[in-house]
Amino acid sequence: MSEPRPDRYAVVGNPIHHSLSPRIHTLFAEQTGQFLVYDARQGTPGQFAEEVNAWFAEGLRGLNVTVPFKEEAFALARQLSDRARHAGAVNTLWRDSELQIHGDNTDGIGFCRDLERLGFQVRDRRILILGAGGATRGLLQPLLEGAPETLVIANRTPERAEALAEAFRDIAPATRLSACGLNRLPSHSFDLVINATATGLGQDGLDLPDHLVHPDSLAYDLVYGAGAQRFLAWARNAGCTHGSDGLGMLVEQAAEAFSIWRGVHPETAPVLHELRHEIDGQ
Ligand code: NAP
Repeated sequence: MSEPRPDRYAVVGNPIHHSLSPRIHTLFAEQTGQFLVYDARQGTPGQFAEEVNAWFAEGLRGLNVTVPFKEEAFALARQLSDRARHAGAVNTLWRDSELQIHGDNTDGIGFCRDLERLGFQVRDRRILILGAGGATRGLLQPLLEGAPETLVIANRTPERAEALAEAFRDIAPATRLSACGLNRLPSHSFDLVINATATGLGQDGLDLPDHLVHPDSLAYDLVYGAGAQRFLAWARNAGCTHGSDGLGMLVEQAAEAFSIWRGVHPETAPVLHELRHEIDGQ
């Protein structure tokens, strides 16, 4: 009799070699006793749909999607969750028994769960998001549903921020959700400042005024580890005492995807603890 084979899952991106997703999902599988393997695959720009369809045909059960393929994953999925439809981007794909491809976006719920871990309440708070790319799209619906006092999207290219604010008008009026350029930031402070730009690992940092934070604000960079340090150092120097990188969000969005695929929600705290230990020890 042949040995049972583990179910197969993967993450696709380009580049992908630094992805922590295989490690995270392997830890989840060990913790919950699920029989699966999870690997990282480099996608080819322009061939996303062909590659993903071939992987599913070979028996892949589910796929996480990262930069730069989230919009293509959105276009590929035949069945979309409400949060994926709003975000216009998909980070979790799977196929049902009728071979229909489903798409969801777990980035926003992952971010909000990490805010809960950090003890931050969204209701009636003032929030600034720097950046208007795919990550910001994923955060907007769950953040707005938390009823902040105001949410401002600020982007290097102001038109992209304005287009995003317009796209979410059905959830929030202009008094609650607004947009501006990075060079026309509001003159008051915010309770939460999120760096959702792709500046973390690049040469150019953000040139931000100190008044954006107050001593009790939370500064949160979606990037984890070394890439978050320039933004978090700015916040500290500006007098803000609470800061976090995006490792908790990464683990939480993965846990939500795992639970969609496997029907069991893993405990995230021990996995976050282990990864934090490894990253800080590097
Ligand atoms: P994206 O769609 O490529 O958007 C990039 C954003 O960064 C745009 O708003 C862009 O502004 C801005 N930007 C790029 N270079 C800049 C510069 N030099 N100065 C100012 N703004 C600049 O990327 P994304 O998918 O939104 O991802 C953003 C970051 O979040 C990435 O670093 C990603 O790794 C991270 N992320 C983390 C998690 C997690 O689980 N922790 C999940 C998702 C994403 P323009 O519009 O003007 O070009």
